[in-house]
Amino acid sequence: MRNLRDALQRAQQRGTAIGHFNIADSVQLKAVLAAAQELNVPVLVGVSEGEREFIGVRQIAALVRSLREELDFPIFLNADHTHSLPNAVAAAKAGFDAIVFDLSALPLEENVRQTKEAIEVLKSISPGILVEGEIGDIGTGSEIHDAPPDLSRGLTTPEEAKQFVESTRVDILAPAVGNMHGMLKSMIRGQTKKHLDIPRIAKIKSAARVPLTLHGGSGTDDEHFRSAIAAGINIIHINTELRVAWRRGLEEGLAKQPNEVVPYKILPFAVESVKQVVRSRLRLFNRVEGLQPASALSSQTLPGPAEL
Ligand SMILES: [Zn+2]
Repeated sequence: MRNLRDALQRAQQRGTAIGHFNIADSVQLKAVLAAAQELNVPVLVGVSEGEREFIGVRQIAALVRSLREELDFPIFLNADHTHSLPNAVAAAKAGFDAIVFDLSALPLEENVRQTKEAIEVLKSISPGILVEGEIGDIGTGSEIHDAPPDLSRGLTTPEEAKQFVESTRVDILAPAVGNMHGMLKSMIRGQTKKHLDIPRIAKIKSAARVPLTLHGGSGTDDEHFRSAIAAGINIIHINTELRVAWRRGLEEGLAKQPNEVVPYKILPFAVESVKQVVRSRLRLFNRVEGLQPASALSSQTLPGPAEL
């Protein structure tokens, strides 16, 4: 698995999905890498425009590249939800493996026109880069919502998916199939789960005939994840669950050592907390049997901060 394209092909053949985890700091990166190494499965690290601004575009590219080379491990980097061409170009120049060029808020014709133009520019900078396009409405922030977001722009149809892929030549498609960014409070408490439109995924897959990404995976029912992968999903994004685990681990590290000021003694709690979530999701996405999570923190019982 020398590159992301190979890893995607292999996932498609094996009926597994590549886990995509957003990060904004080295604590989260350490956790994602450690879980993937433990299970020996490929993994995608994602950075949104906000996350990139915090950690640095060229800096995160250098970090991930150095890990991949030094460890000879299939860890790849994605420029998640990139809304402008200059930001996409910066990521391509920095050496990202993939870019989500997200103009899904625009009318479809405009999304097609600008995505097509962007792909030409990005492939001229980095011929091997994979470009993902997005249609339909899956909301925006990977945060905790009080109420379900307004997803009035609707679910993706197979016809739209086919038209979009054929017109733009995107490498990967992100459809709206019942998924959404962020989690409701009831999902954090484990009382409700997201449900996906599995038949729609299967129809979009056979119409679009490209790898499909499921965004906003946090809080999705495990059985729906399995069915979605079988129906043609190849990449699954998890962000909010990691953010919740990060905060919870950090609070634990601080609470257990009230007088400690050494970051590398406090932050391992956050690393471990995030790692458990990543491991649990990677096991599911990669159909890793027989290995039980080391701790009780599974996707079924994801706890949130006390105030949630
Ligand atoms: Zn997303």
